[in-house]
Amino acid sequence: MTERVAIVGAGLTGALLATMLGQRGYDVAVYERRPDPRLAGAERGRSINLAISTRGLTALQAVGLEEDVLARGLLMRGRMIHTATGEEEFQPYSADGERGINSISRGELNAVLLDAAEKLPGVSLHFEHRLTALDLDVRTMSFAAPSGSVDVEADAIIGADGAFSVVRRAMQGRVGFDFSQDYLSHSYKELTIPAVNGDYALDPGALHIWPRGASMMIALPNLDKTFTATLFWPRTGPGSFEEIATPEQARRYFDDNYPDASELMPDLEEDYRLNPVGALLTVRCSPWNTGRVALIGDAAHAICPFYGQGANAGFEDCIELIAQLELHAGNWEPALDAYARIRKPQGDAIADLALHNFIEMRDSVNSLSYRALHSTELLLHRALGDRYKTRYEMVSFSTVPYAEIEPTVRRQRTVAGVATAVGLAGLAYLGFAARRR
Ligand SMILES: Cc1cc2nc3c(=O)[nH]c(=O)nc-3n(C[C@H](O)[C@H](O)[C@H](O)COP(=O)(O)OP(=O)(O)OC[C@H]3O[C@@H](n4cnc5c(N)ncnc54)[C@H](O)[C@@H]3O)c2cc1C
Repeated sequence: MTERVAIVGAGLTGALLATMLGQRGYDVAVYERRPDPRLAGAERGRSINLAISTRGLTALQAVGLEEDVLARGLLMRGRMIHTATGEEEFQPYSADGERGINSISRGELNAVLLDAAEKLPGVSLHFEHRLTALDLDVRTMSFAAPSGSVDVEADAIIGADGAFSVVRRAMQGRVGFDFSQDYLSHSYKELTIPAVNGDYALDPGALHIWPRGASMMIALPNLDKTFTATLFWPRTGPGSFEEIATPEQARRYFDDNYPDASELMPDLEEDYRLNPVGALLTVRCSPWNTGRVALIGDAAHAICPFYGQGANAGFEDCIELIAQLELHAGNWEPALDAYARIRKPQGDAIADLALHNFIEMRDSVNSLSYRALHSTELLLHRALGDRYKTRYEMVSFSTVPYAEIEPTVRRQRTVAGVATAVGLAGLAYLGFAARRR
């Protein structure tokens, strides 16, 4: 008998997992609380575009969608730093200067994935179905739908319902389930930099950053020649969303702090007034599974967006879940157990890396010492190849498990430090010997 799998949430992770399971002949029903986003369009000011890198592309390749998605993306090969006085400096992401991350419309990516899932004979999509109750033992669910309450049973349930997961909330009632939720002191707001005379106002081959120490603005290009800019400002205190309350104050703040961008944003006041302020949080929980129910994507590990890895990590979860299902011959309980055990440390590691990268993006990129280290590391990578990889390369251009990245960075830096010290000692000795002769 074909097993019935229910996926709660038709966001990026849920839609990809539905496609992967559907391609393997599973009977998959996806329940999504919102209307079909392909018909309803994007919500104003809610994460318009996002960066997809190697991990996400690897998962998309596995379902045959990599080309399709890349055709809708723009390659950003490095960061363009905008100083407070309006100068620009380009910092490549990779040693060869060629590799980059792809700016892609979230709505389009979601639509591509939903189209792919919907085409599969075993997959059905149920929009406007909000999960309201879940019995973990017998795997029954209740959904609030336009026609009233709908009750559903499934052989396995996957919670892909995002940072405020209702599936996770049901698991929180279990003894032994650990959960933490940490709000960042900063929130975000999206704005638009429109095209100028039909062309991009800034270089579309870069991710633009206006680092200002305690806060920052970034901008990613869109195919329609606009940029989506995102402010990451403190919620309260100096330079915060609370302090800069009116559109007029926002314009004055922009003129003082982002003068080059301010000139390019005629609709700043309107965007600032209308677009919502979004919270940023890190969610950690454990275990990610109980019986034949498991969490995936943001439901298991909501992280801050500073490495552009949330969706990439969710896509990697899908690969692992499928690999374990195949390894365990479709036996859900051991497969979900192994999946959760393998992916939980990865979720924790990328959460930490993301928080670390916030400090790098808003502050360190400006400093001389950071720039010197960045250039040296790229030189070392060029000279030593895969024996020396930067943290950024490992996160964005590899599928090295996230949890291995920080220990590798530390090891490499120790070796590089020792090599530099030995080299300097050797030079000093040669100089001393030459003087004695
Ligand atoms: C500002 C910002 C920028 C980001 N930039 C990047 C980036 O550059 N690169 C990157 O990889 N990631 C980025 N991310 C992270 C990325 O958006 C998330 O990691 C990703 O969307 C997670 O996908 P998901 O499917 O797990 O969850 P979600 O996208 O949150 O989808 C969950 C789905 O579940 C549905 N749902 C919720 N509750 C219920 C319910 N009770 N019943 C039924 N359905 C329900 C929701 O409506 C939603 O459709 C960014 C995030 C933010 C906030």
